[in-house]
Amino acid sequence: MKKIPFAVPEITDDDISEVVKTLKSGWISKGPRVLEFEEKIASFLGVDEKSVIACNSGTAALHLAVLSLGLSEDDEVIVPSFTFCSTANVIEHVGAKPVFVDIDENDYCLDVKKIEEKINEKTKAIIVVHFGGNVGNLNALKDICKKHNIVLIEDAAHAFTSKYDGKYIGNHGDFICFSFYATKNITTGEGGVLIAKDLDHAKKARELCWHGIDKNSWDRYVYPGNWGYSVLDHGYKYNMTDIQAALGISQLKRAEKMKEARRKLFKMYLKELGSLKDYISLPVLDHDNIENSCHLFPIRIKKNAPIDRDEFIEDMKELGVCLSVHYIPVHMHPYYKKYGAVLPKTEEVFNEILSLPLCSSLAEEDLMYVVDCIKKVLKVK
Ligand SMILES: *Cc1c(COP(=O)(O)O)cnc(C)c1O
Repeated sequence: MKKIPFAVPEITDDDISEVVKTLKSGWISKGPRVLEFEEKIASFLGVDEKSVIACNSGTAALHLAVLSLGLSEDDEVIVPSFTFCSTANVIEHVGAKPVFVDIDENDYCLDVKKIEEKINEKTKAIIVVHFGGNVGNLNALKDICKKHNIVLIEDAAHAFTSKYDGKYIGNHGDFICFSFYATKNITTGEGGVLIAKDLDHAKKARELCWHGIDKNSWDRYVYPGNWGYSVLDHGYKYNMTDIQAALGISQLKRAEKMKEARRKLFKMYLKELGSLKDYISLPVLDHDNIENSCHLFPIRIKKNAPIDRDEFIEDMKELGVCLSVHYIPVHMHPYYKKYGAVLPKTEEVFNEILSLPLCSSLAEEDLMYVVDCIKKVLKVK
């Protein structure tokens, strides 16, 4: 029996030597490599270098986005429930209220038709989550934001290298938050990047990312040194380190290659599982104007399948295949039950959905093993 993990990071010898180079350089905290990573992210995505802030997690990037808006307790932020908890947690962190909106079952992103009924004078922002590397309806979202004078934040944790209208994600909303967690499309171990389009917001976020100090540590410690600094706000310690940045710089060189590997595997799954459409529904690779980073391969176990989603996961585990569920809806977690959100589509999808193993280093023969196991547990030839 094979053992197929859900996802493993792709770490090459080049990645390792970049990190070792930094470890031996005499500078391992936030310094020149973080600046270099920010510059390289900017030129990769085609965005202004001043708008890019490297952070110690995707969650920190989301928190800085919400913080730099200066939200207060009466403010509301529209957010899907079908996401990782940190998307909503950061709204709670600033004392504002998350207002959950249901998803569209075709792309598992915010249902844009259901947003405006939740907008009122307290609404300050929408956070869209680009589920699995697919992209929410950004043109419609931008129109809604413009009409109501509110801000668009993209939780693009899954969407590094995804494209919309021919441009990389990073070029569309007011704030874009990427995660470089171990299983994401490129990784720095832990880490993330915030892109803040408005350069005043970017300046504020950069300050809050580093204790609220008006200059970075590199200025302070680089020879011959400069001991002065001013604290302009009660900020956070959210900076990336040079060790993480070194890994990121190396990974970024392969970002397109790793995306192509994911896309190839995604297409193989589509082809091999096409005959099982009576029992499972398959994700769409690319919607009209969207190129998918293929972060996840989510499938839904249909009602007429011989087993349900939970049994499917258990049976696959017994065959050595690790699956995952994205996501337990946020509004169903104990802390968030207080809002009493009613989201029928989110709950219906949650009961049927699971994610198959997918990462750039997944071997094709391992993918075929997963396919064989699926046929076995669904009792089809
Ligand atoms: C991974 C993830 C995050 C959080 O990113 P971290 O880097 O782990 O903090 C936020 N939102 C979504 C949708 C994610 O998948």
